[in-house]
Amino acid sequence: MANTDQKLVGNGWVVTLGEDNRVIEKGGVLIEGTTVKEIGATEDLKARYPEARFIDAKGRTILPGFICAHHHLYSTFACGISCKPSENFVQILENLWWKLDRALTLEDVELSALIPIARAIRAGTTTLLDHHASPSAILGSLGGIGDVVKKTGIRASLCYEITDRNGEQGADEGLKESREWLKRVKRDKSGRLHGLVGLHAAMTVGEKTLARSIELAKEFDTGLHVHVAEDKADEDDSVQKYGKRVVERLHAAGGLGPKSMAIHCIHVDDREIDLLRETNTIVVHNPQSNMNNAVGAARILDMIGRGIRVGLGTDGMTSDMREEVRAALWLRHHEHKDSRVGFVEAALALLKTNAEIASAFFGKPLGRIAVGAPADLIVSDHIPFTPLTPDNVLGHVIFGVAAEPINTTIVDGKILMHDKKLKTLDWEEVSERAAKLSPETWKRFAAL
Ligand SMILES: [Zn+2]
Repeated sequence: MANTDQKLVGNGWVVTLGEDNRVIEKGGVLIEGTTVKEIGATEDLKARYPEARFIDAKGRTILPGFICAHHHLYSTFACGISCKPSENFVQILENLWWKLDRALTLEDVELSALIPIARAIRAGTTTLLDHHASPSAILGSLGGIGDVVKKTGIRASLCYEITDRNGEQGADEGLKESREWLKRVKRDKSGRLHGLVGLHAAMTVGEKTLARSIELAKEFDTGLHVHVAEDKADEDDSVQKYGKRVVERLHAAGGLGPKSMAIHCIHVDDREIDLLRETNTIVVHNPQSNMNNAVGAARILDMIGRGIRVGLGTDGMTSDMREEVRAALWLRHHEHKDSRVGFVEAALALLKTNAEIASAFFGKPLGRIAVGAPADLIVSDHIPFTPLTPDNVLGHVIFGVAAEPINTTIVDGKILMHDKKLKTLDWEEVSERAAKLSPETWKRFAAL
């Protein structure tokens, strides 16, 4: 009889990533409970753990689950929506996002989370760092998303985007919901939940709300998750109202540091880059969103060269990190007009830096297959048809794994998808529920 607590994912090309960076042909990963117990040759592991449930990778690639460092689950119902064309970034916020988020109910928030989380599991994304907004349904929103995270089995860091754009009550409720979430994370024993203090952006957060948010982050020993200089308008607003550039203002308020994430950083200047480096603040790059919004290209090669940790997110565009890493690479080539630059930086932003960020946040080694680490791993349909060695893993991820579907997704030793079938949620049922709900959401959107 099979030992239900042990699983052997074997007969594949094991790519461990992490410091070991091993590649094992006909390799296997022995999982016990939530953790990786052994990595080695499949035949050897099979002989020594005959009772383990065998998951046959059939020559495919076994690798760590992907991590998304910045997502907006709430953006789901924007798919196919009709809105006024926007000439610039501020209009994009006003015509689309600040109307859509206002139209959301708590039930919309739940469905808006279920769909992209299902897509994450299907794309092999096992951990995501989300930034949520639903001004008409703030209280209970993170709790609801947290329930979806627990139920679906994924690993997630959540935050509510605190802002003054919805008046004093909106800011108060944002702070309250953030506090409730941070308290729940503290109580939670699963190890799959994390919390940050979210802020929309400097341009919609006044001094009092900024100070209260930073205080809250300090109280719970966590950091900020804030959009920074996504558009020049954010910098102009900061200089005009406060006489400081965005990063200088956040720094003066005590909001930077190794636990804080500055998202985008497209229009920051050299002094701001120095401040981000001096404070060891994390920067997250979102190339598909930046190109879609036509807001410019972040100087990520400069930042990485100066020692800043630059991770990779999707900004709600997708749950699929394989798309995003390719976009990051093409953008570097396009931006620098040089096909030699950016390959290693783009790939490592996803495979190394995101792993470091998530490992620090969740307090456990993520983004690698290692003995003693959580068993967050995936099986890609990519069957290496060219030599695969530790030296060319990045090329196989970008041109092989990224071009094939994911077959199996496992988080904390639990199978969330196998043979492309979701195990913890019903895709058709969830899609049908969303299809019933979204027309009402769109009506409210159109009336705003
Ligand atoms: Zn964002």
